[in-house]
Amino acid sequence: MTKKQFKAESKRLLSLMINSIYTNKEIFLRELISNASDALDKKHYVSLTDHEHTSDDQPLKITIERHKDTRQLVIEDTGIGMTAEELENNLGTIAKSGSAEFKAAMDKADENTDIIGQFGVGFYSAFMVADKITVETKNIHDEKGHTWVSSGEDGYTITENEKTTSGSRITLDLKADTDDENYSDYLEEYVIRRLIKKYSDYVRYPIEMEVEKSIPDPTDKDKTITTNEIETLNSMTPLWKKAKSSIKPEEYNEFYKAKFSDWEDPAKVIHYNVEGTVSYTALLYIPSKTPYNFYYSDFEPGLELYSKGVFIMDKAKDLIPDYYRFVTGLVDSDDLNLNISREILQQDRQVRAIAKSIETKVHSALEDMLKNEREDYEKFFDNFGLNLKYGIYKDYGMNKEKLQDLILFKSSKEDKYVTLKEYTDRMKDEQKAIYYACGTSIEEINRNPVMAKLREKDYEVLYFLDERDEFVASIMQNYAEKPFQNISKGDLDLDSEEEKKAKEEKTEANKDMLSAMKEDLGDKVKEVRISSRLNEDPVIIVSDEGVSLEMEKYLSQDPNNRGIKASKILEINPEHPVFKVLQDAYTNDKDALKEYTEVLYDQALLVQGLPIEDPALYARKVADLMVKAANK
Ligand code: ADP
Repeated sequence: MTKKQFKAESKRLLSLMINSIYTNKEIFLRELISNASDALDKKHYVSLTDHEHTSDDQPLKITIERHKDTRQLVIEDTGIGMTAEELENNLGTIAKSGSAEFKAAMDKADENTDIIGQFGVGFYSAFMVADKITVETKNIHDEKGHTWVSSGEDGYTITENEKTTSGSRITLDLKADTDDENYSDYLEEYVIRRLIKKYSDYVRYPIEMEVEKSIPDPTDKDKTITTNEIETLNSMTPLWKKAKSSIKPEEYNEFYKAKFSDWEDPAKVIHYNVEGTVSYTALLYIPSKTPYNFYYSDFEPGLELYSKGVFIMDKAKDLIPDYYRFVTGLVDSDDLNLNISREILQQDRQVRAIAKSIETKVHSALEDMLKNEREDYEKFFDNFGLNLKYGIYKDYGMNKEKLQDLILFKSSKEDKYVTLKEYTDRMKDEQKAIYYACGTSIEEINRNPVMAKLREKDYEVLYFLDERDEFVASIMQNYAEKPFQNISKGDLDLDSEEEKKAKEEKTEANKDMLSAMKEDLGDKVKEVRISSRLNEDPVIIVSDEGVSLEMEKYLSQDPNNRGIKASKILEINPEHPVFKVLQDAYTNDKDALKEYTEVLYDQALLVQGLPIEDPALYARKVADLMVKAANK
């Protein structure tokens, strides 16, 4: 019998489990029960839809056996079971091992890392309490059963067995007790009872166990005798079928963690019932942390779908719009056909009606959270805000109206999050636009020369810290009839009528000098002009309408980008002493003007964080200017 090796990450994970000092080892039982319950769901579904396989008439249930003599704990289900191939794929490799992020986390992990909390590890968590695991299983469609055995890191074997009924029997050989850890506890009736109540009470199939019962002695009324009896340990009512008022927050949380493989309580629970043309119950959750692969293609969004309490499918993504894909949970409707397939979900009238109503519910739950639980909402936004922004600019902005009041930006007012409504409600009467500035940090944006001018005017500026924010603004164009305006782009229109007039006169008086400067710079700029957005700094590069400087930076990272560039404008501050220097050079020394112009242009690029063409040449020019100034 040849031993097979685990895939590298699985091996590493296993070793972490085996050596884990995680204090919450008991969750292994929840994981195994939850797998058993899923397997029973699948079998139930097959029995209702695929009549050839209904011959298997075992009751759908989970049985727990405790064998104190051999220190074995057994969890058995009469579910769908696994084929040899499934054993290999499901237990030889861990599902998450494909993702790059998981690999990276595993590489760094040691026994102290909360890999369990970060990723959830399912079946393998049993290695926290067992040093050998045996899985005897037979798939309902398979002729033969198979047995998988592993004692941890040195690999596993798969052999045929004699099992005749479908399902899985998982035997854990518990680890020897140590000073810190009493693994024998898991063989105690009261411990198992407590764990089932705590984590698996709502499992919809009976979880049975042999328990000791004291009954009156039939031969002597004053005495009792102990007998053994099979008892169902769980209440079996699906949580979502219970009255909302009777459910405690902890119950919602435990159910979520058990069912949706999270180790943390959810940020938000949405549970409701709809009666009408389509009736359904939904129990939805928003996680309190971004799932590790949320922004990767292997993340599978969607809700579980039930019909009259019968599980139909997992990850039904047509039930929830993509921009709310962070929502997990389940939907149970009496009006759905059991045979509905994944492919036709989207065309099904009932499903579409349910999806529409779920969207409305989620939307109002988010609005409500934003209004009444601001702090929680901001945390939510840190986790999933990017996804809402995607939602705004995807599909040509089709959903922008729906989502625009759910997004937040940090702003110059208090470095705190604001909504667009808060921004426009408090903006100055004469303010014409919603101003934003792009950068990688608040500090960087605050150094932008234009910020000083806007601060002087007491105009609030939104910090666009994500490179995608500008796409959001460009697809929205405006909010509450106010256009979005990048502070480093186009005409900011900040001047009063008098100031405008003064600027026009200045431009007119200096127009020859400005065009000489433009001449000197050639195609590098579209125009050299007088600025009204600076108060302390000498020059700035801004972009014309169209592609902004930040978009140019962003696009330049894309290898397929064919040199899309912003059309640049060099603006000069007429109030800065350097302006006078330029005027003098224009009248007396055209060569000096050229030199100054080139240096100022490079400086302006540097200020905006853009690369300059020839840094060595720039450095030489600055040094030359110093020498000339000293020799004067
Ligand atoms: P997860 O349950 O999160 O997918 P697990 O590591 O717990 O991850 O299980 C891996 C897979 O092994 C499951 O998705 C399922 O396909 C299969 N599996 C585990 N336990 C059972 C079981 N008792 N019956 C049938 N299949 C099972």
